[in-house]
Amino acid sequence: MYDIIIIGAGPAGLTAAIYAGRQGSKTLILEKGIAGGKGLEVPLMENYPGYERIEGQELIQKIKKQATEHAQLKELEEVTKIEKTREGFEVGTKKDTYKTKTIILATGTRHKRLGIPGEEKFLGRGVSYCATCDGPLYKDKKVLVVGGGNSALQEAIFLHKIGSKPTIIHRRDQLRAQKYLQDQTKKLKIPIIWNSTLKEIKGNNAVQGAIIENKKGQTITIKTDGIFIAIGEEPLNKLAQDLGVKTDKAGYIITDKQQRTNIERVYAAGDITGGLNQWVTACAEGAIAATTAYKDTSKI
Ligand code: NAP
Repeated sequence: MYDIIIIGAGPAGLTAAIYAGRQGSKTLILEKGIAGGKGLEVPLMENYPGYERIEGQELIQKIKKQATEHAQLKELEEVTKIEKTREGFEVGTKKDTYKTKTIILATGTRHKRLGIPGEEKFLGRGVSYCATCDGPLYKDKKVLVVGGGNSALQEAIFLHKIGSKPTIIHRRDQLRAQKYLQDQTKKLKIPIIWNSTLKEIKGNNAVQGAIIENKKGQTITIKTDGIFIAIGEEPLNKLAQDLGVKTDKAGYIITDKQQRTNIERVYAAGDITGGLNQWVTACAEGAIAATTAYKDTSKI
């Protein structure tokens, strides 16, 4: 019987593990992929306190090392179901079933899809949701980056820096991204196609072009070798919903300030709770969730 099972090993889940282990809770982290989650995709962070600049991969490796000093981590083990029992919960994966008194859901989000023709077909053949992973394939090549938020600008800046030729395409005439990223984009003279959306992705075996439509309904076809889509996130909330955990209209888990959900002894932390979607807030929520789980079970 574990005291705490943490589902998801991104910044929130790993930080929860550090706190849980250090307070003496027997803790297991279950991760469907490799620890780090979307954190592995962050090219460069410049707003994590203590590091002026650090790559997402480097920071996550440090957090992972620290977490596994205090908790057991099982990677490539996707949780498929959670059942409520008299003592707590049974957490099932394809490999095993684990018993626990409490659960911390730190399942994060996934990249939103545009839902346009060609997006699925060319995934991995010119369409990508991760510049850090796939960007190096596009050195000296023309790419489009779709979106006007922090992710889109961060990806465009990264692509420019590794020698690719990005153009941002944004549906409005104003960016949503932080001023700092907007200033860098301007300084690097990364072109932006304003008031336009991607309608279709064209190609044979791989992406060769895209059809773009402006607000007046006029379309143009432009040549491009790659398309990076960064139009936001959607919550990975299936396990939560199966358990009866309450979510908001957008599907993010609702918690109180102690990261408790509406289901007793189920807590949530990180991007799955919505909000600022920053590493620093994800880590903080992870720390709070682990501490609350400990306090609640100490009363049992
Ligand atoms: P986001 O902030 O939600 O921005 C999504 C962008 O995509 C917006 O500009 C939006 O346009 C556009 N968009 C949405 N749906 C679209 C569609 N169907 N077609 C075309 N464009 C569409 O998402 P994000 O940039 O992925 O960031 C997610 C979260 O992570 C945010 O909270 C962000 O602050 C955080 N983040 C932070 C950093 C950092 O601190 N450096 C870096 C990356 C991400 P509109 O503007 O018109 O809505």
